[in-house]
Amino acid sequence: MRASHFDLVIIGTGAGGGTMAQALAGSGARILVVERGEFVPNEDQNWSPEAVWRDLRYRATEHWLDERGESFVPYTHYGVGGNTKFWGSVLYRLRCEDFQEVAHADGVSPAWPIDYETLAPYYDRAEHLYHVHGEVGDDPTEPPRGPFPHPAIPHARGMAAIVAQLRAQGLHPSALPLGLLNPGAPGGCVLCNTCNSFPCKLHAKSDAEVCGIREAIRHPNVTLWTGALAQRLVTGHDGTRIEAVEIVRHGQVERVEAPLVVVSCGAVNSAALLLRSANKEHPAGLANSSGLVGRRYMAHLATMMQGFHPFRVNDTVFQKTVAINDFYLRGPGRPYPLGQIQSQGRTHGVMAQVVGDTMVPGIPRWAYDWWVARGVDWLVMSEDLPRPENRVTVEPDGRIRLSYSPNNATAHQALVAEATRILRRLGFWKVMTHSHQSRNTTHQCGTLVFGTDPRQSVLDPYCRTHDIANLFVVDASFFPSSAAVNPGLTIAAQALRVAEHITAS
Ligand SMILES: Cc1cc2nc3c(=O)[nH]c(=O)nc-3n(C[C@H](O)[C@H](O)[C@H](O)COP(=O)(O)OP(=O)(O)OC[C@H]3O[C@@H](n4cnc5c(N)ncnc54)[C@H](O)[C@@H]3O)c2cc1C
Repeated sequence: MRASHFDLVIIGTGAGGGTMAQALAGSGARILVVERGEFVPNEDQNWSPEAVWRDLRYRATEHWLDERGESFVPYTHYGVGGNTKFWGSVLYRLRCEDFQEVAHADGVSPAWPIDYETLAPYYDRAEHLYHVHGEVGDDPTEPPRGPFPHPAIPHARGMAAIVAQLRAQGLHPSALPLGLLNPGAPGGCVLCNTCNSFPCKLHAKSDAEVCGIREAIRHPNVTLWTGALAQRLVTGHDGTRIEAVEIVRHGQVERVEAPLVVVSCGAVNSAALLLRSANKEHPAGLANSSGLVGRRYMAHLATMMQGFHPFRVNDTVFQKTVAINDFYLRGPGRPYPLGQIQSQGRTHGVMAQVVGDTMVPGIPRWAYDWWVARGVDWLVMSEDLPRPENRVTVEPDGRIRLSYSPNNATAHQALVAEATRILRRLGFWKVMTHSHQSRNTTHQCGTLVFGTDPRQSVLDPYCRTHDIANLFVVDASFFPSSAAVNPGLTIAAQALRVAEHITAS
């Protein structure tokens, strides 16, 4: 087996790993960044709804098992930048309340071991790194903060009219915080209708490749291996330290030794890597003295909604600019939180057809094109609560099993009902809904929870494992609760905080 040595190995290049690599690149340490996928090719298909939604050109091809043992293809992507290449770049801070214990319809959302004030300076830095555009003042749930690094993206004419109507309904619509590079400027973002779920052909969406990895690999001390799968972490003879990472590259297993290892494979794959690395000293998986590795998986309850009017053609191109947070902390007439409503990127005919074909096959494409041209699209999202039985395990043959049943459905149904009422009051004739249900792994988190008590958590508040001193996990795994806003900025902010801690120690 070939062996090499570095000062630090970072496994994964998404929101956690890509941000971490950028933050540590200037340290001078010899850093190896390991990524199982390749760079997303820059090609016409980047913006093709057919390629992205029908051919699933960029999706992971592996199969996972669900709780019944049924095989499914997860909604996830392996490549440089990870899932951030495909994200909508809606980059929210958690609300102050999200860091505290909150009673929900279906149980309790636990407190974080850090508060908003602790993360706030790193949110500032993450917003700069990811070029976040937004506006302070309209969002009733906004935590205390200074101005955004860049002004909010203006609403298109049609969305501005909807915002005015929402205000007339007594709601408080606000600007969605968005990570985009130089919108409207030469070479910058062109505010197109292929952003969310598409890679940006112009590299003008703030993702972890553009803002993290590309910056990191400019430094001569940073090496990136693509097509390199970390299959196992190896501990020393007494099990107290990671000695090496076994990596499959070009069909060969290579051994990389380093005094510090940061795992950033995403919430499902990071847990799977720790479980797969079980050995004599750690028979239940690495860093698993709490028994919590892989447990408490969360993913948000999410429903796509569309307001449809047969006589109103929607001429908005970039639609993803509006948020409604009025029900984030409490629902109308309900003492518990419901979640968030945000406008979405435009639905393309082929996207509707892919879903429609699973219900009523054979409807021609022109009918879908006609329909989506008259729709305004929204995403309605509620908090998922951590349950030990919602978990990642690894089968004897190495396959991932994701056992999951959604909870907090009462709150989510109430939010969908409220959003339906709002859209009907906007004059839409029909309101359509669609949910990927339990197979929506896009907002996966929580499988390696951080906390102060080693019996109740896997990671400490700086994301170091309680059990193994030189092993950190910096990705969506550490979330004790899922909150109900998009997770990416919080992952990046914590990565910056952990990077600073590592540099200082
Ligand atoms: C379509 C879509 C839209 C989204 N929109 C938003 C949004 O608007 N705002 C937001 O905040 N979030 C959004 N998200 C979610 C967001 O992308 C994720 O929360 C975020 O990317 C998670 O970061 P991560 O570091 O945990 O994992 P990832 O970004 O998934 O990165 C993990 C990386 O590890 C690599 N990897 C995995 N296993 C191994 C291994 N064994 N060896 C080597 N490499 C490995 C993967 O290839 C990947 O590059 C969206 C996601 C999707 C799919």
